[in-house]
Amino acid sequence: MNEENQQSIDALLPPCPEEPQESDCYGSGCSPCVFDIYHLQLIEWQKQCNEIRCNERCRSETTDTESDKPLLSQIKFSPFQLLSVQQHTHDTFIYSFQAVRASSEQDLRSHDIKYTHVKEPLDIKVGQHLIMRYNIDENQNGFLTRAYTPISDLKSSRMGQFEVLIKLYEHGKMSKYIQNLKENDIVEWRGPFGNFKYVPNSYRHLLIFCAGTGIAPMYPIAKFIVENDSDETFVQMLFACKSFEDILFRDEMQQLALYWNFSAVIFLSRVESPLQSQARYGEIIRKGKMDKSVIHEHLAGKTLQRVLVLICGTKSFNKDMINYVKQIGVQDENIHLF
Ligand SMILES: Cc1cc2nc3c(=O)[nH]c(=O)nc-3n(C[C@H](O)[C@H](O)[C@H](O)COP(=O)(O)OP(=O)(O)OC[C@H]3O[C@@H](n4cnc5c(N)ncnc54)[C@H](O)[C@@H]3O)c2cc1C
Repeated sequence: MNEENQQSIDALLPPCPEEPQESDCYGSGCSPCVFDIYHLQLIEWQKQCNEIRCNERCRSETTDTESDKPLLSQIKFSPFQLLSVQQHTHDTFIYSFQAVRASSEQDLRSHDIKYTHVKEPLDIKVGQHLIMRYNIDENQNGFLTRAYTPISDLKSSRMGQFEVLIKLYEHGKMSKYIQNLKENDIVEWRGPFGNFKYVPNSYRHLLIFCAGTGIAPMYPIAKFIVENDSDETFVQMLFACKSFEDILFRDEMQQLALYWNFSAVIFLSRVESPLQSQARYGEIIRKGKMDKSVIHEHLAGKTLQRVLVLICGTKSFNKDMINYVKQIGVQDENIHLF
């Protein structure tokens, strides 16, 4: 492979995880410590890089016609058309995208280009994420990329569609771009990434600890399990956010709770009004944070080898949760960090 090809592949690789500073470690013997988490992230990053390099080598050996090209690929950004934007909570929105093909790839950035919808399957598994790219400086080829997790079901995916729930941050770089998106705009995506593989009935209990938009990979996983009649796994979702107005997938969690094998507990860290006044029928809402006693309570009485723990939240949330479940005796192979 020549140097130019090598450079173009290197440009596709995800950013290397940031190594923690010595000062990030409190020196209090945490298990896992920030360096253990960094090590796990590094292994996952290396796996993704190897996969991309391998796919790219295979791809360069074949000359695809436009219609043979995959609609979504890990190595190359593909255009998707924004179908709709729906407000979900005060600061989150659901964006729905449709796979399209351009008449000629060279014209991708031209304004008068024609795109046609392609209703063919996208191979996105539950819990996987995609990377969105935005060209912040066309002259300099400066791109901004961010990861988002499809929340839509397999039915949409079979029709070349996916939905993402995005929280918009006031000063967020990508948030500013996303805020200005309009229906029919073309947005570039690549993926899917993530090594979570779910095999029905391989565990008795799936225990989900998530915070904020960390619920994005968890909702489709829970839905996938409870909608499968032959999957007898119990799913317990513990979701943390600040207040009632920040609860994500509230209606959807209530729908899932109609199934015999799903339950959810919502933890609100900043609530003033009495919980009963805003809690809905059947909702289990608690004040405060998810601490070790909460985790203990939900693992008590379960055979730990038959429990799979899924964790997704902020860095500090993830670190705390991993710490708690490990202290209780859950083994590494029974923990998946998103
Ligand atoms: C694998 C993966 C999957 C993801 N899936 C989703 C998803 O489905 N939906 C979604 O909304 N986001 C998701 N994210 C986060 C997303 O990629 C961006 O980080 C987020 O949208 C902010 O980007 P930005 O450019 O707008 O903000 P930035 O310019 O990167 O940050 C602006 C400010 O916002 C704060 N901030 C940024 N991100 C967070 C955060 N996650 N939590 C708390 N504060 C934050 C920072 O303190 C920063 O000062 C995912 C991230 C990863 C790694």
